[in-house]
Amino acid sequence: MESKKGSEKAEAVGCPSETGMVGKAAVCEGCPGRELCMQLGNKDPDQEVIDVRMKVIKHKILILSGKGGVGKSSVAATLTMALAKLSKKVGLVDLDICGPSTPKLMNVEGMSVINSQWGWKPLISPHDSIKVMSVGSLLQHTDSAVVWRGPRKTQIIKRFLKDTLWGKLDFIVFDTPPGTSDEHLTVINVLKNSQPDGAVIVSTPQALSLGTIRKEITFCRKMGIKILGIVENMSGFVCPCCEEQTDLFSSGGAESLASEYGLAFLGRIPIDQRLTECCERGQSIFTQYPDSATGRALLDVANSVIEAVER
Ligand code: ADP
Repeated sequence: MESKKGSEKAEAVGCPSETGMVGKAAVCEGCPGRELCMQLGNKDPDQEVIDVRMKVIKHKILILSGKGGVGKSSVAATLTMALAKLSKKVGLVDLDICGPSTPKLMNVEGMSVINSQWGWKPLISPHDSIKVMSVGSLLQHTDSAVVWRGPRKTQIIKRFLKDTLWGKLDFIVFDTPPGTSDEHLTVINVLKNSQPDGAVIVSTPQALSLGTIRKEITFCRKMGIKILGIVENMSGFVCPCCEEQTDLFSSGGAESLASEYGLAFLGRIPIDQRLTECCERGQSIFTQYPDSATGRALLDVANSVIEAVER
């Protein structure tokens, strides 16, 4: 493995380790690692291990959103809980390196990742034993800021896949940052041999969020990632007392967009104060409010996702 100093140097001079120029670029002249790079060629030694780890996981799903604040992380976390309620074995990878919220949502905040001789043991959420990995769980303080450049983010994402003992799972869900960034390109690249099932796009019904979704759709199509469908979050308001649903702002925008692009609509999740409360406290809506309309809506979305990957 490359030494810390070596990798810092490579980062500074623009090491072509992820391009087709390994060992052949001008910066490789005089580099002490050149011979090894030439031997390895363009093969990524990590890729083989990642492929083996991912092979025993049946379905791999990316959760995307065009912008922040639409409830993507909340949907990703509650979707894993809903899948677990439907008897699936699930893992959740938080790829939102700079703003990880998964530890709180999955109630694993304060737990440390154990580095065993075989690899990292993922954190086990009290919600149906969902396996979780997040950069937030590797930081010493929850308030620490992660100020990392591209290559460092790439490394940690690879380690989440390569070094984590995921074992056999039915689903692994990747919660990605909003938009289309380094994190998306990295995860798509490292999953290239494992045939990810596709992406679930989360949007609110409003035009601003829907506009950014068009970009996500273009991105997925360009990268050859199948779109499993669109989820409309914060769609109408559910009264916590009587469960009556009203269209507080609007609803239905994401469904129309899905049909415009010929995509599946996976369901709508209302604005529910009880869901905010559960997310804030790291609780599961399925245990706190087992018969709620929002819980049922989330189970419907999970069933639609299962149908989409099995189709
Ligand atoms: P994103 O990941 O898109 O930035 P978050 O998942 O962090 O968004 O959600 C933003 C806020 O909205 C959080 O406080 C979360 O609890 C709340 N939230 C998300 N979805 C809902 C919903 N359907 N009903 C009520 N609150 C929600």
